[in-house]
Amino acid sequence: MVRSVENRACAHCAGPIARVPVRGPLPTYCGSACRWAAGHKRDSDRRRGERSALTCEGCGAGFSGGKRKNRFCSPGCCQRRRRKVSQFVSDGEA
Ligand SMILES: [Zn+2]
Ligand SMILES: [Zn+2]
Repeated sequence: MVRSVENRACAHCAGPIARVPVRGPLPTYCGSACRWAAGHKRDSDRRRGERSALTCEGCGAGFSGGKRKNRFCSPGCCQRRRRKVSQFVSDGEA
C-alpha cells in the first residue's frame, strides 16, 4: 500500500511534504527547519505573554509593556520617581 502525499502541506510554510515515512505518523512539517521554526514561534509567543504583565514602579498600576526593562507605565511616572529620589538625596545633604 502506497501512502499518498497528496493534499499534504507543511503546517509552517504550506509547502509540499516530499518525504513521507513508510510507517509511523505522517509528518506535519516539510523538514526539521520548519518544525523548529514553528516550535520557536510558539515559544516566543508564550514568552511575550508572560512579559506583558508588569507593575509600574511609579504609581503601582499594572500595565503591559513590550520590553522587560520597562519599569514605568508612562514617561511621566518615570520622571516623577526620579524627581522624588533626587529631592530625597538633596534633603539628606542639607
Ligand atoms: Zn515547511
Ligand atoms: Zn505609573
